[in-house]
Amino acid sequence: MEKIQTRLFVIVIAAFLFQSCSLVPLTGRRQLSLVSDADMLSMSYGQYDQFQKENRMSSNSADTNEVKRVGRNIQNAVTTYFARNNMSQGLNGFAWEFNLVENKEANAWCMPGGKVMVYSGILPFTRNETGLAVVMGHEIAHAVAKHSNERMSQALVEQLGGQVLAQALKQKPKQTQQIWMGLFGVGVQLGAVLPYNRLQEGEADRLGLIFMAMAGYDPHAAIGFWQRMSQKAGKQPPEFLSTHPTDKKRMTKIIAAMPEAMRYYKK
Ligand SMILES: [Zn+2]
Repeated sequence: MEKIQTRLFVIVIAAFLFQSCSLVPLTGRRQLSLVSDADMLSMSYGQYDQFQKENRMSSNSADTNEVKRVGRNIQNAVTTYFARNNMSQGLNGFAWEFNLVENKEANAWCMPGGKVMVYSGILPFTRNETGLAVVMGHEIAHAVAKHSNERMSQALVEQLGGQVLAQALKQKPKQTQQIWMGLFGVGVQLGAVLPYNRLQEGEADRLGLIFMAMAGYDPHAAIGFWQRMSQKAGKQPPEFLSTHPTDKKRMTKIIAAMPEAMRYYKK
């Protein structure tokens, strides 16, 4: 009797997990999803506004304008890419925004719905507009591939016993917000950071190169950027590396993805 119950339990769980997996058209991969796009967007917009209120945005207008210019160029590239592949509905509800925060950490992220934040501390690594396009293209790729839906779902399973987002937010607002911030490496202790996994990094690298190339930036700049970043890995690695872990294999894959990206490159 007990065995049957266990088996039944396993079947129910499996069915639940299968139902909770959604196919992301951009990557053709099934992702665990305990969160609706609508809940993700509403949380994203709230947390992004709060971040802007609690932090000092850069007063350097040249740098800020550069962030906004690169962001708009990549946004246009993404919009074109989605339209060409009949996937425009994947950008429904996006309300793009690009800002530069005065913060010595080397970090950058894009919350769901196209809410991008670049930290002034990453500019020494990006060096110029093309380098900035590497970072912003990569972050935007994570967002349009809905990687945060996947990571938030995993965190809800691991830390809150598989609650759906709206319910978790109502019952444990503080913890849910902390998990959320951990997705982007925002002001949290190292232990709370949830890194992207290798599969997600690979997808963001490939798509990021395509988007930046379509926006008119030479994707080869990605090689130099990741080399400069990984040289700083060590005792106190940049925040950016804690959410985007890198290894030797990554550079090989980036180089292998270059010919495809170059087909989209228009000078
Ligand atoms: Zn990444």
